[in-house]
Amino acid sequence: MPSTLFKKVWDLHTVRTLPNGQTQLFVGLHLIHEVTSPQAFDMLRARGLGVKHPERTVATVDHIVPTRDQRRPFGDVMAEDMLAALEKNVRGSGVPMFDLHSGAQGIVHVIGPELGLTQPGMTIACGDSHTSTHGAFGAVAFGIGTSQVRDVLASQCLALDPLKVRRIDVRGRLGEGVYAKDVILGIIRRLGVNGGVGYAYEYAGDAVERMSMDERMTICNMSIEGGARAGYVNPDQTTFDYLRGRPYAPQGAAFDRAVSWWRSMATETGAPFDDVARIDAAAIQPVVTWGINPEQSVGVDERIPDPREAPVEDQPTWHEALQFMGFRAGQAIAGTKIDVAFVGSCTNGRLSDLRVAAEVARGRKVARGVRALIVPGSQEVARAAEREGLHEIFQEAGFQWRKAGCSMCLGMNEDKLQGREVSASSSNRNFKGRQGSPTGRTLLMSPAMVAAAAIAGAVTDVRDLLKGGRG
Ligand code: SF4
Repeated sequence: MPSTLFKKVWDLHTVRTLPNGQTQLFVGLHLIHEVTSPQAFDMLRARGLGVKHPERTVATVDHIVPTRDQRRPFGDVMAEDMLAALEKNVRGSGVPMFDLHSGAQGIVHVIGPELGLTQPGMTIACGDSHTSTHGAFGAVAFGIGTSQVRDVLASQCLALDPLKVRRIDVRGRLGEGVYAKDVILGIIRRLGVNGGVGYAYEYAGDAVERMSMDERMTICNMSIEGGARAGYVNPDQTTFDYLRGRPYAPQGAAFDRAVSWWRSMATETGAPFDDVARIDAAAIQPVVTWGINPEQSVGVDERIPDPREAPVEDQPTWHEALQFMGFRAGQAIAGTKIDVAFVGSCTNGRLSDLRVAAEVARGRKVARGVRALIVPGSQEVARAAEREGLHEIFQEAGFQWRKAGCSMCLGMNEDKLQGREVSASSSNRNFKGRQGSPTGRTLLMSPAMVAAAAIAGAVTDVRDLLKGGRG
């Protein structure tokens, strides 16, 4: 019987079925960071337990690190305490820690793949919703809560409900100026923020097969924003080429053996799915969110919809979104003035994202009054970008070139919106208060669109800049 990757990985990692019907699932790789692990370590200590599999656990620091001045102690006492707690917790435990001095620090979902820790056929867990990112490699990866972080530290297992699988078939060619971020925002717009509840999403089709690993990570990253607990792409040559030579990937003959096993984990022809959705890649245009969840979006040349067009159950949220954002139905999204532009996060803080943004920024200037931040997803991304001179392109254009961290994705550090500021952001959530100000407003879009908005001082169609040549 042909099977999906999800089922194969799930079955291989099943320890047993629990009396309540849940599966006790073995976790191959546990990624931890400073925000969701301290309480879990406290709970462990209270029970007299240690870390069961330190060799399957990896720590980094990302959410709270300042991106301007990273000298210790940090200016923010709470941030300093959180990092100190993580350092204390991993000390002597055997858990490797990629800290600020490691040269490999960065956002947990950027460094896992970059180091070759993330591999096909694995189960991966992390106390962060966007752990689904790792599914780009054909892993089954879950975001978990603090008590589950405790469970994995203590037992290397999780109790989970099995998921259904929806195949999302993306076919056709993306137009110029349309990127993976537009694809996933388009998928969420179509299927809804709750459309994936109870599902893992398998992203497939020729448009996905042509994508780089960075692009696949962008898509899988936002699975959770569509309600799916996990999202993945079947491993292929692109996956193997990315992993070859990475420090934690198998080396030499072991790599070739691993490739043949990784290939065997892919979904087989004829495997049954619980649902299939088809997406026409050519119909996708640059997407911008207008509301307070990632489903509330339009193409850049569309108008903000009327709540009366929404399903009855969604109408209150649409009204709330219009009021919070200060928009009115029928207004064009293009031309919306912005105060802040942010390129970064585990969705779009990789080298290819920075290259695209730099291409737009090259020879142009950030609009007067716009605060524009470029925040690499990791120290490795920063070094690679600097080797290519991208930082100089950004700085000449008036962008701030920062150090690696989560930065303004969620404003748990010094990078925050102020008051009612409007942000053009390459991150993943436009929830109220997400970027550090309770009244701050977030417009999600691709890194290219963020760069274009920074230049124009307003939401603008990046395709016009790409067509118009250098500024
Ligand atoms: S960049 Fe944002 S979503 Fe990603 S790990 Fe950091 S806070 Fe979480």
